[in-house]
Amino acid sequence: MATAKLIEIPTLFQKYQVAKNVLDRVSIWNGDITRISIDAIVNAANSRLAGGGGVDGAIHNAAGRSELQAQCRQYNGCAVGDAIITSGCRMTHIKKIIHTVGPQVYGGNITDEIRENLVACYRTSIDIAIENGIKSIAFCCISTGVYGYPNDDAAKTVTNFLTEFLEKDTSLERIVLVTFLETDNELYNKYFAKYAASKT
Ligand code: ADP
Repeated sequence: MATAKLIEIPTLFQKYQVAKNVLDRVSIWNGDITRISIDAIVNAANSRLAGGGGVDGAIHNAAGRSELQAQCRQYNGCAVGDAIITSGCRMTHIKKIIHTVGPQVYGGNITDEIRENLVACYRTSIDIAIENGIKSIAFCCISTGVYGYPNDDAAKTVTNFLTEFLEKDTSLERIVLVTFLETDNELYNKYFAKYAASKT
């Protein structure tokens, strides 16, 4: 008589736990990153750390331009994919600002190197956060504004990286993905739902 194949409960259970462990620590929030009360926010800076427009300008305004510039000047700029850290200056509701420099995309043409540099922004920012004892971190949608990185590819790439990272990491308690445009919010929701579905 053929024996019934046992259902691998431990494997299924593990898969579910892994997804829950990841999804319980991620939030997707639409709004102004300078308004979040959290350990650290991540700025999409330029390589001179000179302060610019977009989210960089909003963060400089909220932090106090001269205070933040004085701290940024202690670094000799920042390379694409790398990150540096400052205090929150006048933003007393956060502990740190992490400034990373995203890749620029011309004509919507994404090469492997450009995609790797976008991932590097997230990885380096998280490394610096963990080194500084940060438990909760909010990211803006790096490079998807003036730097021209296509929104869909960015949301997919970032979701893939973060879910893989959080499956192994135990030190970060919360990652907030701050979207400014409704379309980015929808894209993150889509890709995190796909991730959840792939694990259940
Ligand atoms: P980049 O040069 O890296 O493309 P931008 O500042 O032009 O940086 O845009 C990055 C992302 O930040 C875009 O999705 C933009 O809509 C978003 N953004 C702009 N202002 C804010 C803000 N105050 N809070 C959160 N996100 C913002």
